[in-house]
Amino acid sequence: MFVLSEKASIANHFLAELRDAKVQQDPLRFRHNLARLGEILGYEISKSLPYHAEEVETVLGSATVQQLDSQPILITVLRAGMPFFEGFQRIYDRAWCGFIGAYRSPADENYDFTIDLGYRAAPTLDGKAVILADPMLATGKSFVEAIESLSDHGTPSHWHLAAAIAAPEGVAYLKRTLKVPYTLWVGAVDDHLNQKSYIVPGLGDAGDLAYGPKQ
Ligand code: URA
Repeated sequence: MFVLSEKASIANHFLAELRDAKVQQDPLRFRHNLARLGEILGYEISKSLPYHAEEVETVLGSATVQQLDSQPILITVLRAGMPFFEGFQRIYDRAWCGFIGAYRSPADENYDFTIDLGYRAAPTLDGKAVILADPMLATGKSFVEAIESLSDHGTPSHWHLAAAIAAPEGVAYLKRTLKVPYTLWVGAVDDHLNQKSYIVPGLGDAGDLAYGPKQ
């Protein structure tokens, strides 16, 4: 697992602003900070992808450059994933993209819930590196359900699961449940999940902060 906050970098400023209840009053800044983290994690993931050498002609000669063998597929989970996903799109600007609509079905008296997947649109994933971006890795159910729901789109060579903030319970659930090859890329791993499966200290509800409260 790659954890961005383990090293001192400017990315920690963006994470701090995402968490800060005062800065969160500005939804444009919240979305922008999620996108900046998406860009940085996208860049970190790029170091693990396969490349080949190519020649590029300049006005003065020829330079050997490393080029991606192929662009990864980018997939996100609606709606909270959108701003985070846009950061990845800026890095992989020629990538084909997929979208999944996911929502928590009403929780029972034990705050237990399942993830219902509604909308789904994705290209074939066969043999591709796939980056699945969802800003909050809470229980891990969204990632698992999303991957399972895409099983009829082919077999990716590798899943890169990206989140801005993760809960240790979600990380453990992925480890127990996922049988596909994957790497987890996160901004930070927090303390725990509360009874309503929100990450503590986390940042609150990422979808509401980016787009406003749901009715
Ligand atoms: N989704 C969120 O937006 N926040 C959490 O803390 C957990 C899931």
